[in-house]
Amino acid sequence: MNRGNRTVLLLPEEILAQIIQQAKTELPNECCGLLAGKIDANRLQGQVLQAIPLINERDSPIEYASEPKSMLKAYHLMRDKNYDLLAIYHSHPTSLPIPSWKDRVNATDSDVVHLIISLTTDPPTISCWYLYPCSHEAALWYIQPKSSTDLHFNS
Ligand SMILES: [Zn+2]
Repeated sequence: MNRGNRTVLLLPEEILAQIIQQAKTELPNECCGLLAGKIDANRLQGQVLQAIPLINERDSPIEYASEPKSMLKAYHLMRDKNYDLLAIYHSHPTSLPIPSWKDRVNATDSDVVHLIISLTTDPPTISCWYLYPCSHEAALWYIQPKSSTDLHFNS
């Protein structure tokens, strides 16, 4: 299924480490949160600048629902920093990083990447998807090694 050009998600290694840590901390339950940052003018790249943890109000190892107050706070933070919503992340404590039917049904925006952290492997397996009511499609994403930003700042 080709839905046209898609923005590539650029995820700094240290932000990935943060959300993996959150996923481990919230075991046995699923964790959830938002990845916010900036999309370039041509909408080719979405640079993640911040992970915003949300509260999983389900307290469940097999599903999540973002608690509304934490969601509202996150949206205020993004508005104040002028950040775009780039991705929604959640963890799968005991299953592969493949969207569940609930993940698809609950996804309201098919332009936002859904990142899933599977804790069935060590290190955890990460995958990114676009979700539609009856299907899902792999999203392009890259981990930005910390050393590359160090080089950037040293030059
Ligand atoms: Zn899920």
